[in-house]
Amino acid sequence: MNSFIELLELKKRIIEELGGGLSGESIVKASRDPHAFRKPRQCGVTIHTGVGCSYMCAYCYVYDMGFPAKPKPYPLSPVELAYSLALNPYVVPMRTLAAYGSVTEPFLKETVSRAVEYITNIYKYFKLPSQVSTKSSLSSEVLEALMHGDKCLSILITVVTLEKHRVIEKGAPSPVDRLEGALRALKSGFRAALFIRPIVPGLTDREFEEILSLAELHGVREIVLGSLRATYTNVARMKALGLDTSEIELRLPRKPGVGEQVAVYSVDLKAKLRKLAVERGFKVFESACAANISAHNEYCSMCSKGPCGSLEKAPKASASEVVEFLLTEGLRVSGVSVSKTKIVVGLDKGSRLKSMGVLKAVLSQASRRMVEFSSASLS
Ligand code: SF4
Ligand code: SF4
Repeated sequence: MNSFIELLELKKRIIEELGGGLSGESIVKASRDPHAFRKPRQCGVTIHTGVGCSYMCAYCYVYDMGFPAKPKPYPLSPVELAYSLALNPYVVPMRTLAAYGSVTEPFLKETVSRAVEYITNIYKYFKLPSQVSTKSSLSSEVLEALMHGDKCLSILITVVTLEKHRVIEKGAPSPVDRLEGALRALKSGFRAALFIRPIVPGLTDREFEEILSLAELHGVREIVLGSLRATYTNVARMKALGLDTSEIELRLPRKPGVGEQVAVYSVDLKAKLRKLAVERGFKVFESACAANISAHNEYCSMCSKGPCGSLEKAPKASASEVVEFLLTEGLRVSGVSVSKTKIVVGLDKGSRLKSMGVLKAVLSQASRRMVEFSSASLS
């Protein structure tokens, strides 16, 4: 089951199978849901297990996006959610990365059952390499239930401060409890990495060595670093809680407007923390998706940060297969070149489709390579 066409045929069968078991009402609900058309981000297709979050992290941007602090499970049943994803034109079975936990904590008491059902059910149908980020303390029961899905599930345990967690993550379990969950996850056979995102300048970097020591004590030897995104309100929220935000403000390229997110400059901090972590024997991933690829022993070269993972696991891709796939989708091409990292497609004069962006994304995910469409002829 490797060719692009086979993967897309598998997707059609999944749509038929899931759709066959749903009522007309469920089909309408699932097809209107954003999971049916959301474009995957670099970390993969983001799957929402709930609406809202009660952990109330001061740096969080979801409250600026209008999500409430009182969470409830995502309103689709596990089968409806799977059907919705099956309809998503960007999603490629077995290849698209799945990311849980982007706009809520998945394992809140109100949403934990739904999260586990989603993670296991989606894996059952699509076999998407899955990753979950959490600040919860994963229990043995939850881990056992997750084992019925993706056994290589990549688990990211978020810790950004030890000293101030009660102030800026006031609803979340303590970092020690989170890391005890990480230890249980590791003992259950999952991969668990420390997720230092967001690096809060002036706070996380100061405590970094202690955070690493605590992780080490709990058997965690991998780490993912990520920067803070400032919003119209989150820096002010941290300041109001008594945090010294001067370092954040210094690093802000500009003040975010209402509804905006602005990345806080962290290149130097990341480099410093990466160096310290490597010196301590940690494996540092450049991004969450790289940790996901590693946990699944797969390969990816979909962006310039790659290639990530094992080269020998690169999905097979031949020029003739790419041509056949694009022709099936109605796109005429003048030539195709395929390397381990990139596919360049020469387009026939006048050959354009409305869905070029989707095709490019599908081809990129199916082959796990960067894809370039070019109107220049390929030699
Ligand atoms: S756990 Fe995640 S989603 Fe919830 S408040 Fe904290 S950062 Fe936001
Ligand atoms: S190449 Fe690496 S960093 Fe880029 S999308 Fe793939 S896994 Fe992520």
